[in-house]
Amino acid sequence: MKNIRKIGVFTSGGDSPGMNAAIRSVVRTCAYLKVDCIGIYRGYQGMIEGDFKPMDARSVNNIIQKGGTILKSARCQEFRTKEGRQKAYDNLVREGIDAFVVIGGDGSFTGAMIFNQEFDFPVIGIPGTIDNDIFGTTYTLGFDTALNTVVEAIDKIRDTASSHNRLFFVEVMGRDVGHIALNAGVGAGAEEILIPEENLGRERLLESLKRSKESGKSSSIVIVAEGDKTGKNIFDLKDFVEEKLPDYDVRVSVLGHMQRGGSPSCYDRVLASRMGVKAVESLLEGKTNLMVGIQDNAIILTPINKAIKGHTKIDKELIRVSDIMSI
Ligand code: ADP
Repeated sequence: MKNIRKIGVFTSGGDSPGMNAAIRSVVRTCAYLKVDCIGIYRGYQGMIEGDFKPMDARSVNNIIQKGGTILKSARCQEFRTKEGRQKAYDNLVREGIDAFVVIGGDGSFTGAMIFNQEFDFPVIGIPGTIDNDIFGTTYTLGFDTALNTVVEAIDKIRDTASSHNRLFFVEVMGRDVGHIALNAGVGAGAEEILIPEENLGRERLLESLKRSKESGKSSSIVIVAEGDKTGKNIFDLKDFVEEKLPDYDVRVSVLGHMQRGGSPSCYDRVLASRMGVKAVESLLEGKTNLMVGIQDNAIILTPINKAIKGHTKIDKELIRVSDIMSI
């Protein structure tokens, strides 16, 4: 078993709120356990360029509440090549780094797994993505914050929707999965929620909107996940509904990248703190190639290859709850 004295930490791929809280936790756990910690800037790109900075407990003052990532994030094509990974490895060895903690999504974990196989280099992953689409954890870092951001935005949209008796289609992030749409939709009281996992069909949507109007609702909100296939896209859906239900005044709002930003929720800060401690302790115990996750409020470890290959399932019960609520 390799003796671990210096741990690298970086954020990679799509950013999410809570990444800073996770960096802080990794750095402080290292300080607590008297292990050196090195921040690697811009993910695998910074690893290849040797963009390193020693971090101590005071380097991460005042960041727990900040969105984004102080270490920056990047996508790096060169790391997909053997030559690129060799350069990264040489830099880590030169710096004396014995292991790393990668905070990112499944792409970043795939890179870490390949790196581990090639160089027998110890790696542990912390899932940071707002999409909540990683197997082996009930919550990814940033998901809860993104839900709060979306719910707050939809509450505001509803104010104006109900003042004008309008129907709003609101697009939220989720190209492959509808976790944000479903949870925020129930939380914001949406009349319909359209997700990639289920295609209700356009006719059912019309029926539902008609029923809504007949039951006396003064406004309607339909949440559409980016990857939903009910229409070609959200604007196509708007045109279709306007054509079929001409007495509806329809508007579209695409929330976009605001969903990735903002101060992390308390839940995400606590989760990040717990995951960072577990990541460092696991490396020091000689564990590798694992992802930290949370299940039944316990911090657990899952083999990285399972986390990458496994699929998260949409909560069918929540779909049922949403149907009942939108009567
Ligand atoms: P995320 O981690 O959010 O899923 P990406 O899919 O963009 O984001 O992956 C982040 C980075 O991880 C990529 O830019 C690349 O450097 C690295 N990576 C992803 N897939 C691989 C792979 N198959 N081999 C090596 N590196 C990879």
